[in-house]
Amino acid sequence: MTRMLALGLLVALVAGAALFAPAAMAADKVNVLIIDGQNNHDWKSTTPVIKKILLDTERFNVDVLTSPPQKAPKEAWESFKPDFSKYKAVFSNYNGESWPDEVNKALEKYMQDGGGLVILHAANNSFGGWAEFSKMCGLCWQGNNFGDRITVDDDGKMVRTPKGQGPGAGHGANWPYEVQVRDKDHPVTKGMPAKWMHASDELYHGQRGPAENMHILCTAFSKADKGGTGANEPMVFTVAYGKGRVFVDMLGHDAKSCGDPGQVALVSRGTEWAATGDVTVPLPKDLTESKPEEKK
Ligand code: ZN
Repeated sequence: MTRMLALGLLVALVAGAALFAPAAMAADKVNVLIIDGQNNHDWKSTTPVIKKILLDTERFNVDVLTSPPQKAPKEAWESFKPDFSKYKAVFSNYNGESWPDEVNKALEKYMQDGGGLVILHAANNSFGGWAEFSKMCGLCWQGNNFGDRITVDDDGKMVRTPKGQGPGAGHGANWPYEVQVRDKDHPVTKGMPAKWMHASDELYHGQRGPAENMHILCTAFSKADKGGTGANEPMVFTVAYGKGRVFVDMLGHDAKSCGDPGQVALVSRGTEWAATGDVTVPLPKDLTESKPEEKK
């Protein structure tokens, strides 16, 4: 190769790299699909908050798929055919009627093959008759005969209560409560304050399910005088399903509780982890250790 040719080649390579760099960066973004459309919660106000949290990180491309409304004619569901393979994570803000069977089967396959799924708050209330979805949720909003209950004792050990014993799903008052990190080394919670205050929200308790391959990241103490159980309830956890990763976040009843610093951290980092198995999104600077006087 002549010196001139080599130089020419180098120039062409550098120019090519410069030309393709922005496209490559856009392609590096993680595609996420939020599904909503039915919920006993105000999904029309929470989906925009979730979408903004994800977009603000500049880590994600976000699509939203809105299902037909309740009691829609069967034909309305014909266009509800999410192509899960286009996404690294599916974010469920959905709690409503069953999806067509083929959609359920497609989600099962997507997860078995290594997909990512985020379950937010009431999204674990739906599809009680869909056993594979219950496995993905780990714990569901169901009565105490549906499955096991999981709590965490004062030593941080997971305690399993068999079905039929103890409370079923519920929540007490909507109040600001403290969230305690139980795994400080997991990519999602790494660097988080050990305990932080969450905005006024429901504190789900007595959730029931198969609770298989479940790993707890955060708990909250469900105070009896707030209508709770007097136990540390699992609020944030992961579930391994097939080759897939599920991130369950039981916080986030409304737009306000979806947007506080702790929830910004969980939604953004939990979604990235579900999608990729790793986290690069930084923690919000305003997520700070809770002070004793904040606890009511
Ligand atoms: Zn709620």
